[in-house]
Amino acid sequence: MSPSPESPADRSHNCADADVLIVGAGPAGLALAAALHDAGLAVQVFEQQPLDALTEPAEDGREIALTHRAREVMRRLGLWQHLPADAVAPLRQARVTDGSGSQALRFGEGAAGPLGWLVANHRIRQAALQAVRDRPGVQLHTGARVSGLDLPAGQPGALASLTLADGRRLQAPLVVAADSRLSATRRLAGIGAAMRDFGRSVVVGRVAHAADHQGIAWECFRYGNTLALLPMNGGLSSAVVTVPGDRAAEWLALSDAAFAERVGVQSGDRLGALRSVGPRHHYPLVGVYAQRFVAPRFALIGDAAVGMHPVTAHGYNFGLYGVEVLARVLQAARRSHRDIGAVDVLQDYARAHRRITLPVYLGTNAIVTLFTDEHRPAKLARRAVLALAERAPGLSGLIKSAITRQLMGAAAQASKA
Ligand SMILES: Cc1cc2nc3c(=O)[nH]c(=O)nc-3n(C[C@H](O)[C@H](O)[C@H](O)COP(=O)(O)OP(=O)(O)OC[C@H]3O[C@@H](n4cnc5c(N)ncnc54)[C@H](O)[C@@H]3O)c2cc1C
Repeated sequence: MSPSPESPADRSHNCADADVLIVGAGPAGLALAAALHDAGLAVQVFEQQPLDALTEPAEDGREIALTHRAREVMRRLGLWQHLPADAVAPLRQARVTDGSGSQALRFGEGAAGPLGWLVANHRIRQAALQAVRDRPGVQLHTGARVSGLDLPAGQPGALASLTLADGRRLQAPLVVAADSRLSATRRLAGIGAAMRDFGRSVVVGRVAHAADHQGIAWECFRYGNTLALLPMNGGLSSAVVTVPGDRAAEWLALSDAAFAERVGVQSGDRLGALRSVGPRHHYPLVGVYAQRFVAPRFALIGDAAVGMHPVTAHGYNFGLYGVEVLARVLQAARRSHRDIGAVDVLQDYARAHRRITLPVYLGTNAIVTLFTDEHRPAKLARRAVLALAERAPGLSGLIKSAITRQLMGAAAQASKA
């Protein structure tokens, strides 16, 4: 059999260091490296943190709710198999209450299986690293901060190049930025982002409790602050308190006993006596949506593309959906000898990712606005929304099935590129 003819793009890429250079070895960058390797592409990943920070990532208080589709992507990439069984907590039901907590919207009641699963972020990071290490072809450079990016403009065949802080320079047909919601590489590419600073912060801490949480997550939109209780294994829940930014320090400074007591009171003591376990962590809440996901020889993935408010638990799920689509698009381009960095190739990913993420990003921001506004009209409106949703079976069913489909990843699946 004669070898397939080399395209002009193939020829110009012979001097490249890899097919794809990825900036950032967070959970999105590592998952993408594994997916692109499996798609037959040569990948190098650059991470500013030292190797120790990746092999033994510190517990950071984030319990990541994963959808069915996200679990499927993790399974295919071999990440899921690296999670110890006791690190995965099933999310069986979710309930949303407002103000006094007298009304609750319920999700997942009567469902055959869990709505999703909760896994600590540091465990996901560890599993993603192991999945990359299972693929010796992927080159991971740690302690390697990317400080420069050069995207060729209007020069057909010219490669993109990255510069590292130590002066090294690398070239490839495609650079992907996975360097967090405040992505410096996105800025170097000249891509702006819509940012929404909610003026609020999340304080997270684990609590041990006497009563069984039964796998139920609670989201209590209280007046003054929001409290979520996320079910974990071992008689624990993660308490996620959202407060105005100027009150975060007060919540962080509480003694363990005072924190447990406040969480207990605010949750209506539904989990019995509480005990605070381990450190508390703090995250300012900023939503970010990139103005474009791609440019010639460049793409954004993970939080660098879409940084979600955590209330609807979609950030990493979206990262994984993006990984799946981008890998599929690049594999198809490579098989048909198209240039993997060409913007018309990358647009297929951009369009699909925007279709999945934009409605949820905007919807999440609208929910946050309605449920954290302390003015009387907003309080009345949200009480009405919950009451209507619970009492009007048709509307309730629509809302619930839309949210449940999001959790199961069904809506996202349906609109695959
Ligand atoms: C409180 C909280 C709760 C959350 N809950 C959920 C949830 O329930 N479900 C869900 O799906 N998502 C959730 N998320 C979101 C989720 O944590 C993020 O979407 C996910 O961690 C983002 O991964 P990433 O790889 O894109 O970015 P990051 O994890 O931020 O990784 C970026 C990496 O890039 C590296 N880097 C940065 N700049 C450079 C550079 N110049 N050179 C080299 N390396 C660089 C960084 O060191 C880092 O390792 C939550 C987030 C928070 C804060």
